[in-house]
Amino acid sequence: MLDNPIYKIIGGEADRMGVKAYAVGGVVRDYFLQRPCTDIDVVCVGSGIELAKASAKAAGSAKVSVYQNFGTAAFGYKHDGIDWQIEFVGARKESYRRESRKPIVEDGTLEDDQQRRDFTINAMAFSLNEETFGELLDPFGGIRDLNEGLLRTPLDPDVTFSDDPLRMMRAIRFASQLGFRIEEKTFEAIGRNKERIEIVSKERIATELNKIIMSPRPSVGLKLLELSGLLKLIFPELSKLKGIETVSGRGHKDNFYHTMEVMDHVAEKSDNLWLRWAALLHDIGKPYTKRYDERIGWTFHGHEAKGSHMVKRIFKSLHLPLNGKERYVEKLVMLHMRPIILSEDIVTDSAVRRLLFEAGDDIDDLMTLCEADITSKNEVKVKRFMDNFATVRRKLVELEEKDRIRNFQPPVGGEEIMRIFGIPPCHEIGIIKERIKDAILDGKIPNDREEALKMMYEIAAEIGLKPVSN
Ligand code: ATP
Repeated sequence: MLDNPIYKIIGGEADRMGVKAYAVGGVVRDYFLQRPCTDIDVVCVGSGIELAKASAKAAGSAKVSVYQNFGTAAFGYKHDGIDWQIEFVGARKESYRRESRKPIVEDGTLEDDQQRRDFTINAMAFSLNEETFGELLDPFGGIRDLNEGLLRTPLDPDVTFSDDPLRMMRAIRFASQLGFRIEEKTFEAIGRNKERIEIVSKERIATELNKIIMSPRPSVGLKLLELSGLLKLIFPELSKLKGIETVSGRGHKDNFYHTMEVMDHVAEKSDNLWLRWAALLHDIGKPYTKRYDERIGWTFHGHEAKGSHMVKRIFKSLHLPLNGKERYVEKLVMLHMRPIILSEDIVTDSAVRRLLFEAGDDIDDLMTLCEADITSKNEVKVKRFMDNFATVRRKLVELEEKDRIRNFQPPVGGEEIMRIFGIPPCHEIGIIKERIKDAILDGKIPNDREEALKMMYEIAAEIGLKPVSN
C-alpha cells in the first residue's frame, strides 16, 4: 500500500512543517483486507488544510479543494493509471449533544481522533513521517478484530452509537459487506439505542441501506436490521412481512425470510441495484392482501398490484431518487407472477407475446427475478418450474425474432385513424387500436403495417365509420 509515492510526499511535507501525519481509517482496513480502495484519508496533528496545500504542490496536483467550515481539504493524484482522492483533516476531538449528529469539534491528538471513529477496524493508522514511516498505530486491537472478522466499537458502544446513531447502520452494513460478526455487546447496544436513529437523515440511512442491498449476501444485513429492531423504525413495510399466521392448523410461509432468500438468489445473478430493490419489494403487498379460505388455505390474491402501487410511496418515504427507477421497480413487482402463471399452464405463444409486450426491455430482469422467486425445498417442484421457465425463455427468443414485440409500436396510430375517417379524438379510436394490438399479440395477424391497415378498415366498417374521400 505504501508503495504509492504520495505517502512519502505527504510525510516529507509533514516533516518540513514539523507536524505528524497518518493515513487512517478505511484505507488501512482495506489494505489488510486486500480490498481495492482509492480514497485516502490523512489525519494531521496540526492543520490538515495547510498540509494538503503543501502536499498537493509537492505532488504537482493543481487543484486543492478546501472546505474551511469542516477544516478539511482534498486533492486528486494520478498514480499507476488510477485516480486517487486524498482527503486531509486535522486530528480532532469531538463531543456530542443529544439532539444532533453534528459534534462540537476541537483540536486533538491522534488518539483522540482514533477514539471518535466507529469501529476498531476503522481506527487504525499508518505513520507517514520519515522516521516512523509505515508504523502501524492500532490502539484498540483493530488487527485482532480484522483477523477474527469482528466489528467492535473503540469506546463503550452505548456512547459510540448514542453520539452518532448512523454508526448502527454502518455496523450492520460492514457486517453484510465484509461477512463480519458484530460483537455481542456492540449488537446489544444497537438494540438499546435504536430509537436514536430518528436524528439521522433519511438520505444517510438510504445510502447505508443501498450498501447493504449491494453486498454479496444482502440477507445478512437485512436480517440484522430486523433482529436489532432498526428495520421496524426505518422500513416498517418490510418488517411487516415477518411472521406466520396459523388458522385451522395451516400456516403460510414467512414472507420476510422468503424475501431474504430471493434477495440472495438475485444478488448471485445481478449487480443491478434496482433489480435487487424489485426483489426486496416483490411481495411487499402480501400483508395487505392476505386471506384465509377454508378450501384452498392462505391466498395473497392481487398482492403484485398492491405491492406495485406501494413502490412510489416507499421510495418517497426512504428519500430514494424518483428518476424513473421507481417505475422499473413498479413494473417488475407488478409482473413478477406472470411467468410463473404462464409456466403452470401450457405456455401459449399468445401469452408469451403479451408478457414480452408488457415487460419490454426489462424482460430478462423479470425472468431473473422470477427464477430467484422459486425458494421451494421440494426438488421435484423446483425442477418443474425451472424447466418451464426454460421453455418460456426459449419462446421469448423465438417470438421476438419472428414478431419484434419487445419494443412494439402499433403499426397504425391514432392520428392516422382520425385523418382517414375524419373524426375527432374519441372512444372508437381506442377500440380500433386495441383490437389491432390484440390481434397481433394473439398471432391472428402478423406485426405488419399492410395487415394492420386492412384490419383497421374491417373494424371501422363494423362500427359504422367511413373513410373520408380525398
Ligand atoms: P466505504 O469506503 O465502504 O464507504 P469507509 O468507512 O471506509 O467505507 P468513509 O465512510 O469515507 O469510508 O469513512 C472513512 C473513515 O472515517 C472510516 O473508516 C471511519 O474511520 C471514519 N468514519 C466514517 N463515518 C464515521 C462515523 N459516522 N463515525 C465514526 N467514524 C466514521
